Amino acid sequence: MKVLLVFAHPESRSLSGALRDVAVRELEAQGHEVRVSDLYADGWKSEVDRADFPSLEPDARLIPVAASKKGFEANTLTGDVKAEIEKLLWADTLILQFPLWWFAMPAILKGWVDRVFAYGFAYGVGEHSDRRWGDRYGEGTLVGKRAMLIVTAGGWEEHYTPRGINGPIDDLLFPINHGILYYPGYDVLPPFVVYKVDRLDETGFEPVAEQLRDRMRTLATTAPIPYRRQNGGDYLIPSMNLRPELGDPGAIGFALHSNQAGDAN
Ligand code: FAD
Repeated sequence: MKVLLVFAHPESRSLSGALRDVAVRELEAQGHEVRVSDLYADGWKSEVDRADFPSLEPDARLIPVAASKKGFEANTLTGDVKAEIEKLLWADTLILQFPLWWFAMPAILKGWVDRVFAYGFAYGVGEHSDRRWGDRYGEGTLVGKRAMLIVTAGGWEEHYTPRGINGPIDDLLFPINHGILYYPGYDVLPPFVVYKVDRLDETGFEPVAEQLRDRMRTLATTAPIPYRRQNGGDYLIPSMNLRPELGDPGAIGFALHSNQAGDAN
């Protein structure tokens, strides 16, 4: 397999950095090709602005969606963005690795998504009509590829359970797993999350490293989260609402969009 690991931590000697090295070493030991985009080390520019669209006339109003579409179609996006798109097309598997900061990814990684997931590449793909709502959520440019998150969190695992005060981890990561990764077509694997890391010591490290090695060994065979495909018949078009007969009656929220129960369609 070809694996791209996008790493978002400012310190290479961090726990995150050590876990990245564990993951890369294990993947290479399994014979996989690995490339790493180390966003801080590379000085990644995180904000979307005019500089991203060199072909935009100096006095033209910047409309990010339109500029992204035009830049992608005309191949005039900046070199750093084009290089990341090339890596995404090269890789069969994408890993995003980051510390949980304010219940989300660090801004530098969000900025990587904002700039690299261009219109015509990651969104705005496929036919938009009253029969289809584009190729997204299970279809799209990156279909057939796998993706997963490696996340470290200061909070306790219990605090991220369904009744935990922080909210369920699957809900917190839903905008990334479903909104960013499943959207352009990836099969999304369950995340690897390490909790209570701020007080982790050397003896605590090895069991975590071994669990991570195991996830790297099973990267090609782990069952993805069973998100419902947009165009698979589960949703009404154009409301894009889940059909009333699907999902638990009365259920609301993110879990509806994952077909854990394996209901029809
Ligand atoms: P580090 O700080 O580098 O290390 C953590 C511990 O691991 C240290 O004690 C270190 O000695 C030890 N360690 C053990 N083995 C090794 C090794 N081999 N190499 C290196 N270190 C090792 N947490 C939440 O749960 N929810 C939040 O919303 C949240 N928001 C945050 C927002 C901000 C701005 C910040 C700074 C932190 C936040 N945190 C939050 C905590 C954050 O998730 C953790 O601090 C982070 O995940 C720790 O990962 P790290 O790689 O930075 O660890």
